[in-house]
Amino acid sequence: MIKKYALVTGGSRGIGKAVALKLAAMGFHVIINYKSHVEEAQKTLDEIIVGGGEGQLMPFDVENENEVSEALNAWIEQHKDVYIEVLVNNAGIRKDNLLFWMTDDEWHHVVNTSLNGAFYVTRILVKYMLNKKSGRIINIVSVSGLTGMPGQSNYSAAKAGLIGLTKALALESAKKNVTVNAIAPGFIETDMTKDLDRDELKKRIPAGRFGKAEEVAELAGFLASDKASYITGQVISVSGGL
Ligand code: NDP
Repeated sequence: MIKKYALVTGGSRGIGKAVALKLAAMGFHVIINYKSHVEEAQKTLDEIIVGGGEGQLMPFDVENENEVSEALNAWIEQHKDVYIEVLVNNAGIRKDNLLFWMTDDEWHHVVNTSLNGAFYVTRILVKYMLNKKSGRIINIVSVSGLTGMPGQSNYSAAKAGLIGLTKALALESAKKNVTVNAIAPGFIETDMTKDLDRDELKKRIPAGRFGKAEEVAELAGFLASDKASYITGQVISVSGGL
């Protein structure tokens, strides 16, 4: 059987790691992107290999268009007979502040990572999916991008922008059997949320608890599978009812 390839941006930790493990368990060769935590990325790859799967590391900063195109085009050049059929745009950061205090750096860094980064990566890979008439793009957004969240105008704007990209690209790609969907997690237990007051926030979550990265990864696995072939342009929350 021909191996299928999947790329997970920000696959070294948290939700991206759980998604990488899930896709590897489904039989994908998983390309694990990360920015700086090489040891964590290597741990993800080691876990994939111990589980009988296969993968590789691919460091680049999604904010940096040159790094993105160099890394991806080098891979494409070395893998002429295959293509990346599943893309999970997961890399993201928070830099919370009230809007009237927000610095240019806090704004641009967050928007560049979640929104521009997804654009740079997707623009390169989607054309191969369209040519081959098969592909899955899964964008990890956030409940913040649906409802807004105080102190997160940068993050909410970036995620709302990525929801817009998801819907427009889904319309462009549906006839070519390329689906584009977004997953909107609520509060998930990862490094990104470890500085938050979890006990206080739990009171706002109908399920009464934070979610686990694996609970997000299950949906990503489903959206990447053949079973989800008629679902496109959707934003699905994994939020315990938040
Ligand atoms: P973590 O902070 O645990 O992990 C972030 C991941 O993104 C790491 O792998 C990190 O790589 C990578 N990353 C960050 N910046 C870049 C960059 N410029 N280029 C490449 N990779 C980068 O975050 P989570 O797992 O919690 O979040 C994953 C996604 O889910 C994000 O998009 C986030 O916005 C979204 N989300 C998370 C929620 C939560 O409650 N945790 C809720 C809603 C959405 P490295 O290890 O090298 O730093």
